[in-house]
Amino acid sequence: MAHGKFGTAINCMDGRVQLPVIEWMKKQYKLDYVDMITEPGADKAVSCGWYERIEEIKAKALISVNAHGSRTIIIAGHDDCAGNPVTPEQHKANLRDAVKTVLSWNLPLETVGAIWINKDWRVEPLEIK
Ligand SMILES: [Zn+2]
Repeated sequence: MAHGKFGTAINCMDGRVQLPVIEWMKKQYKLDYVDMITEPGADKAVSCGWYERIEEIKAKALISVNAHGSRTIIIAGHDDCAGNPVTPEQHKANLRDAVKTVLSWNLPLETVGAIWINKDWRVEPLEIK
């Protein structure tokens, strides 16, 4: 098992939202490291992507959970997203559905949640289970 406390983010590939997600998660969950699974428009990919695409994301999450002992998965969506160019309201609906997808994986997690990164690049917790 790797040393340190790990969490897992399923985040957009967008360079503007990497550090905000990492910094928020490290502070919120007292983590040493955040494993980053990135997809363009990750909230859409996990909530309503093709089966194969969701399975690939799940396989990456499993590595983080099994090899690094992560017990926290956070799905992030953000304003001005080129990978999922919809309204903030639609993003938030995608994020809530994405939480349901991750819960359906039945991983040994303590926390599954969704966060919204607003136009000021600040994190708004949306739904934490
Ligand atoms: Zn994006």
